[in-house]
Amino acid sequence: MTSRASGSTCGDCVFFGERTGIVRTKNVCERPGEGLRTIEKDAAACDFYQVSPRASFGLGTARAAAPAERLARPASGWQILCDTHCHTLFSRHAYSTLEENVRAAAAQGMELLGVTDHYSSMLYAQQTVQDWQYFLNLWAWPRRWQGVRLLRGCEADIVDLDGNIFGHDIFFDEAINGSKYHRPHNLKKMAFAQCDYVIASVHNKDFTEGASREQITRMYLRVLEDPKVLILGHVGRTGLDFDMDTVLGTVKERGKLIEVNESSLIEQKREGSYDRCRQIVSRCAELGVSISFGSDAHIASLVGHHEAVDALLDEVHFPQELVACRDAETFTGVVESAIGPMAE
Ligand SMILES: [Zn+2]
Ligand SMILES: [Zn+2]
Repeated sequence: MTSRASGSTCGDCVFFGERTGIVRTKNVCERPGEGLRTIEKDAAACDFYQVSPRASFGLGTARAAAPAERLARPASGWQILCDTHCHTLFSRHAYSTLEENVRAAAAQGMELLGVTDHYSSMLYAQQTVQDWQYFLNLWAWPRRWQGVRLLRGCEADIVDLDGNIFGHDIFFDEAINGSKYHRPHNLKKMAFAQCDYVIASVHNKDFTEGASREQITRMYLRVLEDPKVLILGHVGRTGLDFDMDTVLGTVKERGKLIEVNESSLIEQKREGSYDRCRQIVSRCAELGVSISFGSDAHIASLVGHHEAVDALLDEVHFPQELVACRDAETFTGVVESAIGPMAE
C-alpha cells in the first residue's frame, strides 16, 4: 500500500532533502536516474516522495512490513529488499539501537537486514575482551524481528598488505568475568564465530602508503580467502588502485560480493569522485560479478534507503540478476553457498 503524503509537496520534500542529500538546493530535486528538476512550492509530491514511509522519519508509527503491506516501490526503482550493512550504537559514531534499525528496515519494506558494526581499532584505544563482548552474544538476536529476517555480521578492518584483518594478532587470556581461559583466545576468531558473514573494508589507509597496484591486488585476494568474508566493503570510496579484473574475477569465482554503498555514493557525488564507483559497478556488470547493497546507515533513519544506488544502477544499466540483495531468499542463498549454513 502507498500512503499519499497529503498536503506535502516536493517544495518541502523531506525525503530527498534531509534524508539523502540529493536535493541540491531547496527547490531542486534529482530523482534517481533523472536530471535535476525545479520543484515549485505547489508541485505535487513526486512518486518517490509518496512512497517514502513517513514512519522512517520518526513522523509516524513504524509498523512491521507484512508482505502484503510492503510499501509499493516506484516502477523505475530497483528491487532491493536486503540491506546488508548498517551500524548500531556499538560502533560509537553511530546513533541507533538494533531494534530501531530493524523497525526502520521494516518500514522501508526490507525483507532482510544485516547489522554489521565496526570491528576495528577505531573503537577502543586498548583491546580488552570486555569491550568486545558484544560479538560474543550475537546468538541472542532473534532471526526474525518485526517481520524482517535479521542477519548477524560485522564490518571488519583490513589492517595490512597481507590482507590480515583486525584482531588476527590479539589474544585474550581471560574471559569477560575474569576467569582464566585454558588457552589464549584469538580476538578475530571470537568476533567472527557468531557472524553469518563479514564485510571487509579498509578505513585507515596509512599502511597502504607507497604500496604498488600489485600489492593492493594481492591484499584484496588474501582477504577473499577468509572463509567468513563475503563482501568487499566500499572499495570505490576507499580509492585504492588495484587490478580490477583480477579482484572482481576472484570475487565471482568464490561466489562473493562487491558492495555498492549508498553512503559512499552520496559522499562521492558531493566530492566529485563518483567515477570510481561507477567504473567498478560497470565492470561488475560486464564480468557478471554480483553486488550487495549496503546503506552503511549510522542512524536508523537511513536504513534501507537506496536512492543513490538506484541512480547508479540505472546509469550503468546494471543487470537485475546480479543484484544479490533483490530479495531475502537470494541473499541468504549467497551467504550459505559462500560461507556455509547459518546458525539457528
Ligand atoms: Zn562507521
Ligand atoms: Zn566502512
